[in-house]
Amino acid sequence: MRVPAVSSISLFGMRIDATDMCGAVQVIRQWCASPRAATCRYVVTPNVDHTVMYQTNAALREAYAGASLVLADGAPVVLTARMLGRALPQRVAGSDLVPALFESVSRESPTAHKLRVFLLGAAPGVGKRAAQAIGQRWSGVEIVGTYSPPLGFEDDDQENDKIFTMVSEAHPQLLLIGLGAPKQELWVSRHAAELEARVALCVGATIDFLAGEKCRAPRWLQRLGLEWLHRLASEPTRLAGRYLRDAWIFPQLVWREWRRGQRPRKQARVDGT
Ligand code: UDP
Repeated sequence: MRVPAVSSISLFGMRIDATDMCGAVQVIRQWCASPRAATCRYVVTPNVDHTVMYQTNAALREAYAGASLVLADGAPVVLTARMLGRALPQRVAGSDLVPALFESVSRESPTAHKLRVFLLGAAPGVGKRAAQAIGQRWSGVEIVGTYSPPLGFEDDDQENDKIFTMVSEAHPQLLLIGLGAPKQELWVSRHAAELEARVALCVGATIDFLAGEKCRAPRWLQRLGLEWLHRLASEPTRLAGRYLRDAWIFPQLVWREWRRGQRPRKQARVDGT
């Protein structure tokens, strides 16, 4: 199910695909244009918070293992990979990937063959506002449906069936899932077989960003790898606890990963090689 041309690295126990934005867009466009595979392919985008959860959440690890593409979303994840000599060409954040993908199809595809997209997640009304904004900005994209599932929907069979039916009737090629992590990853991995879309992207707050509901950090802050600081300042009550935990655990994971990388070399020196 994976694309053979994309190589990958291993970091914090995760497989991360070593592709840049352009490569990721190409692969996803290729999947969107091909007949649906046996299940809906899905893409996950690890950041620091995912990395921390991944260590203790077996279901998240399973969801990641089933992903067709794993893209490094967090600047600290890319930085760590580079520090440890495991090449990742670029940060490929979900919130950048979606506009890049829309831009690419709008530039190259005739309007008769628009990319059919369904938006799942975000608060009521936000999906519709995002759909409007997308329609105004990208001529190659058609939003064929939006839905904001109620809280707790993931444990409600009827709600899940309703979503599968909505998606199936809308015939999207691409499903954008903005339910936050790890809910979106767990949900899509559990239901990939029932989702009649070719590709699903787990993209957190991207639908909010597209709707203008939330603002992304300024570019200069993103370039400094400090987008998380902007998010923390925008939603301190929701994010402070999480960021504190991550700030405590992530450096320990980096340290452990570095030590692990040192071991074979020391062993090789003992062996005289
Ligand atoms: N969200 C949702 N349903 C849920 C939980 C969250 O639609 O049951 C949406 C929420 O409205 C927001 C997004 O998920 O649009 C959260 O994105 P964010 O990247 O902030 O999530 P995180 O992974 O950082 O919690």
